[in-house]
Amino acid sequence: MTAKITIAIDGYAACGKSTLAKALAKELGYIYVDSGAMYRATTLYFLNNQLSWDDAETVRQALPNIHIEFAKVGGKTHTFLNGQDVEEEIRTMRISNQVSYVSAVSAVRKMLVRRQQEMGAMKGLAMDGRDIGTVVFKDAELKLFMTASIEARTQRRLEELQAKGIFEVDITEVERNLLERDRIDSSRDDSPLTQAKDAVIIDNTNLSPEEQFNMALELARTRIAAKIKRLELIG
Ligand code: C5P
Repeated sequence: MTAKITIAIDGYAACGKSTLAKALAKELGYIYVDSGAMYRATTLYFLNNQLSWDDAETVRQALPNIHIEFAKVGGKTHTFLNGQDVEEEIRTMRISNQVSYVSAVSAVRKMLVRRQQEMGAMKGLAMDGRDIGTVVFKDAELKLFMTASIEARTQRRLEELQAKGIFEVDITEVERNLLERDRIDSSRDDSPLTQAKDAVIIDNTNLSPEEQFNMALELARTRIAAKIKRLELIG
C-alpha cells in the first residue's frame, strides 16, 4: 500500500480548479489530470467530424475512435486527440459553448470515467473536474469543492483567454457561458456537479492563489500524515 493519496477537486467553471490541482501535484510530486480537457477533446472530435451527440448509435460508433492522451510540450502538459496537439483549440469558445451538452451524454461519461480511473489507479494524483469526488474517485482521501463569485470567475477567465492571445471574446459572452455551463452541469441526470458530503469547500473569491494553495497543501499534508499513521497501525 502506498502513502500517496488521491486529491479530487470539483467545482464551478473557472474557479481555478486546474491551477490549484497543478500546483498541488507539482509540490507533492503527483500526477495531475485535467478531466475537463478530456470532455473538451471529445467535443472537438464530434464537431470536427460533424457527428451528432444526440444520436445514440452515432455516439456508440464514434467513441472507439477517440483517443485522448496528455504529454509535455515545452514543460507544459498538452492534450492530444488521436495524436494531434489540440491544447489551444479545446480552450476556445467554440468548444466551451458545446462541451456541457456532450458531457451530459452517459456513454461519453462512461468511457472517460473509466480512463480517469485507470490513470488514478496507482494513487499520487490530483484530478480536477465536476464529478471527481462524487463518481470517479469516491474514496479520494482529500476532496475539495471550489466556488467563487461569478464576477471573479468571469474576470479570471477573460484574462486567461487574453493571455492565450484570444481577444475576440467579450465579457458578457464569457459570463453567459460560465453560468450556462454551471446550469447544465449541475442539472444533468448523469453525475451532476454537486458537492461530495465529505468535501472541504473553498470559496476563493477573496483569496490570493498563494493563500488558497497553502490552505489546500496543509489539508493534503494532514491527509497524507493520517494515511501514513493508518498504514503503520496495519503493518
Ligand atoms: O474543467 P472545464 O471547465 O474545462 O470543463 C469543461 C466541461 O467539461 C464542463 O463544463 C463540464 O461540462 C465537463 N466536465 C464534466 N465532468 C468533469 C470535467 C468536466 O462533465 N469531470
